[in-house]
Amino acid sequence: MANILVIAEVKEGKLKKVTLELLSKGKELAAAAGGALEGCLVGSGVEALAAEMGQYGASKVYVADSGDLADYNGEAYANVTAKIIQDAAPGIVLVGASIQGKDLAPRLSAKLGAGLASDCTNISVDGGSLVVTRPIYAGKAFETRTFSSDIQIASVRPNVLPVSDPDAGASAEVAKVDAAAGDVKTKVLKTELTAGDKIELTEADIIVSGGRGMKGPENYAMLEELASLLNAAVGASRAAVDAGWRPHGDQVGQTGKTVNPNLYIACGISGAIQHLAGMSSSKCIVAINKDAEAPIFKVADYGIVGDLFKCVPILTEEVKKLKA
Ligand SMILES: Cc1cc2nc3c(=O)[nH]c(=O)nc-3n(C[C@H](O)[C@H](O)[C@H](O)COP(=O)(O)OP(=O)(O)OC[C@H]3O[C@@H](n4cnc5c(N)ncnc54)[C@H](O)[C@@H]3O)c2cc1C
Repeated sequence: MANILVIAEVKEGKLKKVTLELLSKGKELAAAAGGALEGCLVGSGVEALAAEMGQYGASKVYVADSGDLADYNGEAYANVTAKIIQDAAPGIVLVGASIQGKDLAPRLSAKLGAGLASDCTNISVDGGSLVVTRPIYAGKAFETRTFSSDIQIASVRPNVLPVSDPDAGASAEVAKVDAAAGDVKTKVLKTELTAGDKIELTEADIIVSGGRGMKGPENYAMLEELASLLNAAVGASRAAVDAGWRPHGDQVGQTGKTVNPNLYIACGISGAIQHLAGMSSSKCIVAINKDAEAPIFKVADYGIVGDLFKCVPILTEEVKKLKA
């Protein structure tokens, strides 16, 4: 079988968790199918991260390290990454279905004439072919898809694949690539971080989310407290975001973020299809809603029919007791 190439994503000098997830799965697939697992690192000051990619299974890492690539720029990263793919000639390319990956993967597909399956929730190989599972119709159904192209690209949802333990003794060969950013028509002038120290929603293990039932922005303090005890991120429905109660970056759903935490606690969220599209693949869903007929209960593993202003403080107290 041809090799598997994992496109790394770097944030603030660190490999993003989705990259470790892809390497862990890629290692398993490469071992099963008899190919090699390789990595692709593009950015500025990123070369040292190749060693970590080696610990997670990459035997060789192609590194394009240049000041011109300090900020993610779709055109530049696609030019450089496509050149690396042409040189490395993998059969399978794995990218995170993150904001960056969702921008990069279609560009690579178009440049290379490669098949692309986006937003996959599982991947396997059958012979030399990649077989993917991906949600369709806003998560109401799953399709299984395979490829007819020589290069097969899949973007995989963050947080759906487990990360295996690194092998501290393993290392990767580093292949430095002198790839130019190329003809770039836009450039990043500045980046303003709004998330601060907040846990990134798409990488969170636990999310406490609030909707219109929260009644106002001040009441999110209650969710913030529970979230901080659980080391969780706080999410929101679009109704809460549109009302100006929460920043857009907190929105979960079809026009917000797609999340896959181990635990999703929905407070005062009705469970509209557009919200479910972003969170229904969470491993365990808890819903607190005073309306027993709310659609969120159809996807919930555990449901509390009750007033969230009574239930959330009780839940918070119980968590405090468990942690005491
Ligand atoms: C194109 C499009 C894209 C969209 N994208 C998104 C998206 O990305 N994400 C998203 O979330 N929505 C999205 N929406 C909006 C979506 O259709 C819903 O309008 C929205 O999700 C509703 O948010 P909500 O559940 O917070 O509010 P509501 O539907 O108003 O539900 C509030 C819930 O709170 C409960 N409640 C009220 N008070 C209490 C209380 N004291 N205790 C317990 N429960 C209480 C009520 O019973 C109710 O079920 C989109 C819509 C469109 C058309």
